[in-house]
Amino acid sequence: MLYKSLNKISKKVNFETAVKNGLAGDGGLYFPENIKPLGNNFYQKIIKKSNHQIAFEVINQFIGDSIDKNNIHKIIKNTLMFDFPLIKIEKNIRVVELYHGPTLAFKDVGAKFMANCLNYFNKKNKYNSTILVATSGDTGAAVANGFLGIDGTQVVILYPSERVSEIQEKQLTTNKKNIIAFEVDGTFDDCQKMVKKAFLDKEFTNSLNLTSANSINVARWLPQSFYYFFAYKEFLKENNNKDLSISVPSGNFGNICAGIISTKLGLPIHHFIASTNINDTVPKYLQTGKYSPKASVRTISNAMDVGEPSNFVRILEIFNNDFKKLKNFFSSYSFNDTQTLEAITNVYKRHDYILDPHGAVGYLGLKKYLNKNLNSTGIFFETAHPIKFSEDVEKTLGIKLKKPELIKELIKKNKYSIQIKNYNEFKNELLKISQKNNF
Ligand SMILES: *Cc1c(COP(=O)(O)O)cnc(C)c1O
Repeated sequence: MLYKSLNKISKKVNFETAVKNGLAGDGGLYFPENIKPLGNNFYQKIIKKSNHQIAFEVINQFIGDSIDKNNIHKIIKNTLMFDFPLIKIEKNIRVVELYHGPTLAFKDVGAKFMANCLNYFNKKNKYNSTILVATSGDTGAAVANGFLGIDGTQVVILYPSERVSEIQEKQLTTNKKNIIAFEVDGTFDDCQKMVKKAFLDKEFTNSLNLTSANSINVARWLPQSFYYFFAYKEFLKENNNKDLSISVPSGNFGNICAGIISTKLGLPIHHFIASTNINDTVPKYLQTGKYSPKASVRTISNAMDVGEPSNFVRILEIFNNDFKKLKNFFSSYSFNDTQTLEAITNVYKRHDYILDPHGAVGYLGLKKYLNKNLNSTGIFFETAHPIKFSEDVEKTLGIKLKKPELIKELIKKNKYSIQIKNYNEFKNELLKISQKNNF
């Protein structure tokens, strides 16, 4: 499998180079060429296959010769260490919980998978990678956890001071070893600007191999397609003869884009719903045909506060930029915080199920779609454990959530962060640390 750049200038590369680079030299996102559908045989037997086996058959062609089969199996085993349960909520609505990983949000699978791939490449070639991540909370946590103790990597996290939850901050700042947390006196956008600047800064690029662990990186993005196959397998067990539609709480649109890729492998999903908070660039685009990215607005589903979703160009590529085709297969709806909190309350009262704000947005999008599409059964993804957003959930429901053991341990740990005010402070500190670490 080769990857082309969506900016069409850089030359095609294999999986290994795409992972190490993150972004193509011309600034474009990498996109897989010539995706081959999995055969009928795969789909006839999927119900009997283990998640591990499914994941292997799904990801194999995307990795090609970059990693041998034995090591792909090892990487999958290290990645899929938890379950993805499907739970029936209403007659035509199910939820798949993607948050049973170590940092309690769905990004654990992509982060662990990518860390294990880089580990393999770096060992083989005695190569060092510095991974830069700007985070509003969940990404940094998953990447820190995934890369903790992985040889040949140092992870540099930038997060906005006082704008992440207590649990998120502890997940970012209590790792030590090869994880460095920069606490930025500013917003998430300021963090992201520093990362972008670093990628263009010769003093960095001459001395360090920089890569990104954002969903632009194909090793973080593509394994997310596993969820759709696992969800389909569970759905088949029901002997349900309706269509399957899936609603995904979306911010950077990496997860849902991996879902759409899975249909290129033949997965029979009838319709996708990208559910967003009031950061509604994509819903607006579907309504008006005009794509106008804007600055992000703060909401209670903060992992989706994205005004310019980086993966949307990949979705357009899948549909050959054909607006009509896209609209037949893909809907996108936006909901505000009041609606989100109402959904959390209603689902708790009616079904005794606790949603986090992101899952609640996914639920709302699915409801809206199913209102007009009676022949579908719907699944929405619950992307974070409600405890990660306990302040809002507890206040709305008037209850106390039970803390998982993992979280009780985490909160006791001491925070280590390097506080910085501007890019120059960041640069000086990081160059010093890298030298000390022999990077
Ligand atoms: C990152 C994240 C999302 C959005 O996923 P994208 O792939 O960026 O669309 C949704 N929910 C949670 C909890 C997240 O951490």
